[in-house]
Amino acid sequence: MSTTLAKLAALIPPLVDRHGPLTEELLLAPGKFGLGLAPAKSTADAVARTVCGFCSTGCCLNVHLQDDEPVALTPASGYPVNLGMACPKGWEALTVLDAPDRAVTPLLRERGGVQRAVSWDEALQTFVARMKGIQAEHGPESIAFLSTGQIATEEMAFLGALAKFGMGMRHCDSNTRQCMATAATAYKESFGFDAPPYTYADFEQSDVIVLVGSNLCLAHPILWQRVMRNPYRPEIVVIDPRTTETAMAATQHLPLYPKSDLALLYGLARLLIERGWIDGKYIAAHTEGFDDFARFVEPYTLEAVAAETQLPAESIERLARTIHAGARVSFWWTMGVNQSHQAVRTAQAIINLALMTGNIGRPGTGANSVTGQCNAMGSRLFSNTTNLLGGHDFANPEHRAKVAGILDIDEAVIPQKLGRPYHLIVEGILRGEIRGLWIIGTNPAHSWINQSMLRDVLDRLDLLVVQDMYHSTETAQHADLVLPAAAWGEKDGTLINSERRVGVIRKVSRAPGEALTDFRIFQAIARYWGCGEMFRAWDSPEAVFRIMTRLSAGQPCDISGIESYEQLDAHGGIQWPYASDAGNQRQERGLFTDGRYYRPNGRAKFVCEAPRPLPEPTSAEFPMILLTGRGSASQWHTQTRTSKSAVLRKLYPAEIYVEINPADAQELGIRPDELIEVASQRGQLQARAFLTLAVRPGQLFLPMHYDATNRLTDAVFDPYSHQPAYKACAVRVVRTAT
Ligand code: SF4
Repeated sequence: MSTTLAKLAALIPPLVDRHGPLTEELLLAPGKFGLGLAPAKSTADAVARTVCGFCSTGCCLNVHLQDDEPVALTPASGYPVNLGMACPKGWEALTVLDAPDRAVTPLLRERGGVQRAVSWDEALQTFVARMKGIQAEHGPESIAFLSTGQIATEEMAFLGALAKFGMGMRHCDSNTRQCMATAATAYKESFGFDAPPYTYADFEQSDVIVLVGSNLCLAHPILWQRVMRNPYRPEIVVIDPRTTETAMAATQHLPLYPKSDLALLYGLARLLIERGWIDGKYIAAHTEGFDDFARFVEPYTLEAVAAETQLPAESIERLARTIHAGARVSFWWTMGVNQSHQAVRTAQAIINLALMTGNIGRPGTGANSVTGQCNAMGSRLFSNTTNLLGGHDFANPEHRAKVAGILDIDEAVIPQKLGRPYHLIVEGILRGEIRGLWIIGTNPAHSWINQSMLRDVLDRLDLLVVQDMYHSTETAQHADLVLPAAAWGEKDGTLINSERRVGVIRKVSRAPGEALTDFRIFQAIARYWGCGEMFRAWDSPEAVFRIMTRLSAGQPCDISGIESYEQLDAHGGIQWPYASDAGNQRQERGLFTDGRYYRPNGRAKFVCEAPRPLPEPTSAEFPMILLTGRGSASQWHTQTRTSKSAVLRKLYPAEIYVEINPADAQELGIRPDELIEVASQRGQLQARAFLTLAVRPGQLFLPMHYDATNRLTDAVFDPYSHQPAYKACAVRVVRTAT
């Protein structure tokens, strides 16, 4: 055993006897209960290619290695996603691994409330004994997990299978509910499957790009670079209440009243129908429900919609003309649509526009949802939460039989219906129905809507287990048990990006201390729980990937033609579908080129419903609307990682700030940079006033990255996707200095 390994082995508390001594073989070998300390694989020129682990763009990064240690990072030039570019987060991806608050040993809270370091054996025995104890006392449905869109697809599949088939959990969800549940729900109903139809090349091929509720420039900077490479001088239309960085660069900006987007989209549809600016042939051949939809939008006259949206009628008309004049119109949306009280219908109103104008299935077109997290798309298909593994349906007996057959498990262990979504898990804790919660790679004590309520909920649990790379997150501070996890860069696996591209992540660095990959933690829990035999074939990430490819066979997301990580590397990632008989080697492929959708009759469906009023309108006490969103390209979500980089920290304000229109500031006597109080019915915070015309009078904007922001937001959800509506609630603002 090498000196380094000997030192590492000495640090590791003994595991229970049944696992035997920690030999070098156990430490290094994949598929055993070791620490996975095998040196990073490096190519001959000491460069490892790995997909970035922050956002859903899925850029490929070259990690330069010396003696198997990472020494530098550069964006990969030959990869079809980022074409040699990376945003600040990508450039700093290695730096954030190195932080003093990395979780390096399991931590168990003692009776006095202090978390103390314990061995993995004690941690795992505690996990199993207490979770099983809760189930014995309160029933199998009394434990749940909340996971993430940030771990590898193989880990998501392992967690989902372990929890639902091995541990008897029913209620499992992930933070992708906060991000993409709306898009997934909308696509399923409209297209018959959760199938974003585009490829990033569409950004370069459109002559009209319509961005709804998307600050692409900050949220997806590399995709914005793809827009900038478009040689057709496209019209760029931004529909957003704020004059965002993207809106500033647009050729048309429609600063509509918050959450009047659904009315605007119906008004545009009516205008296009009225003027005959629709594709009747496409509608007749490939869709259903258009006549009902056309009748439905009749009341959405230009005048009515202009009043509702507070937009000039001319700008709505101009957009309709632009859509009509475009030969290749693409519609894109992100969180401004997804995080709303009527999110699914808004997403479907965008889909309706693409369908009725025939702007789908051709290069440069589409109704395109851009995802948030690096593996939200993996979660949507393989986490076993909202779908049965591989995009299957828990309620479908054939699907259950297929999955049981491939996994060689008893079909009876597969639930016949979905568990509770995120907010109902939270509600279940409040009611005392759920008493044990396992949180993996997410930080709800910061990110969940109406934060004070959520923190109170976490403290009501009999057992809260947090599995994370840092022990310092707001959520880990509430934990009874912390399981230290390896990070991106410290493990192998695959991610699926927004355009359905499966890409490989590589282990280029060793996890600190006793931290284990999420994969190894799930494997260990399976053994301690007593269901290790069920996962005997799940002995490495690549072995699980091969299981996933078999599970996907015959599905729209079929990846059965992908045989290995090496194949993915060689192709620059591969978009689904890629069936064994596909024979389609092109690097960038859109869907629905033949006009056939995944619904039983092969047709896409027009879906519509009357808009509903804002759940929390302004009032005399709370007269302003609060908008939330991304603050900069250098911040990622709750900043647990990006705050670790000195470079990134220089690129965004350290303190929370609130954007306020100068007219409002003048009326309230607020000076630039003054500390002001913002309050909603749920709480208040103090923030520096940033006077800017980016927000309209009567509106405020807070970046989501600061932990105080969600003290204010209102726990309201879309009724179909159950996604939280972070974007608009009523607030008041007052000066704190007198
Ligand atoms: S755009 Fe997203 S995937 Fe690309 S480097 Fe930045 S964070 Fe990583």
